[in-house]
Amino acid sequence: MREAIITSYEDEFGLIRVSVPMAPPLNQVNSYLLPEPDGRFTLVDPGPHTGEAEEAWHGALKKLGLAWDRLAAVVVTHHHPDHYGLAGWMQERTGCKVRMSARAEAEARMSWGGEATLTEALPRLFLRHGMPEALALGVREHLQGFLPQVMPQPEIEPIDAAEAVFMGGRSWRPLITGGHAPGHVSLYEAGSGLILCGDAVLPQISPNVGLQPGSDAQPLQSFMAGLRLLGGLEVSRAFPGHREPFTGFAARTSSLLRHHEERLDDAARLLAGGPLSGFAVCEALFRGRIGSTHQLRFAMSEALAHLAELVRRERAGVVEAARGKVLFTALA
Ligand SMILES: [Zn+2]
Ligand SMILES: [Zn+2]
Repeated sequence: MREAIITSYEDEFGLIRVSVPMAPPLNQVNSYLLPEPDGRFTLVDPGPHTGEAEEAWHGALKKLGLAWDRLAAVVVTHHHPDHYGLAGWMQERTGCKVRMSARAEAEARMSWGGEATLTEALPRLFLRHGMPEALALGVREHLQGFLPQVMPQPEIEPIDAAEAVFMGGRSWRPLITGGHAPGHVSLYEAGSGLILCGDAVLPQISPNVGLQPGSDAQPLQSFMAGLRLLGGLEVSRAFPGHREPFTGFAARTSSLLRHHEERLDDAARLLAGGPLSGFAVCEALFRGRIGSTHQLRFAMSEALAHLAELVRRERAGVVEAARGKVLFTALA
């Protein structure tokens, strides 16, 4: 079992980072603990619900000399298991409130709730876009495997985009963006220029931008709009969902925008050679980088997000093929 790694930025920035262990390829997720003036604390993004993460949290609170009953609130940037997963477990232990955007709550219900449809709908979408049946079946099993990581699910008190979020004795502006996850909240404090940006902007890693059935139909457009919005802020230091806190936030948003423009050009070049399925484009774009079902699922969703954007920009078209499948074609 790995322990949580604690890094205090309390003197300089008023927060403590708790690096919570999670599965590869990411290996860790950043939680942020913000001490409140009344001796309690607020926690941003608790991590996935696994035995290892539970143990890591018990150990971390002990090291920090904090008891669970001091937990005032959990704020969640987005509904992905590695950020949202432990929120319900913490609420059950402490009765704390759990806050995320209403859109993120709706996505959580669609992905993990009683009326969850994603487990069936995503493999169906992938089949329609040419993924071989055995691989699509693997994706279905893979999705089912996430359920324990988000149970139990919390009662949510929604974050309103028009209202400040108070935590760590300070007032933070919530910025809701899409593309990586609908309803993703970044928290920005204008006075200090600090931002807790979840997975909206990451250093080194390009956040996954994925098309999912029943969700945002233009995730890349949403993601790029979010990068432009966030890139316009005066940020002194960014605290991301994975990897190390970083500076040069605006430059990072520009480099991610460039990366996606290049990838759109790559996909358009592939289609210039003749009609292709989404799966064929995925294989060509991510060749050699898909080592697991997890990576395949994200690569396929990302390829489809890029193809949807090419269609929106009228650089590609969609044609029906045999057996209910579809292909993408280049448009001059
Ligand atoms: Zn995420
Ligand atoms: Zn994440």
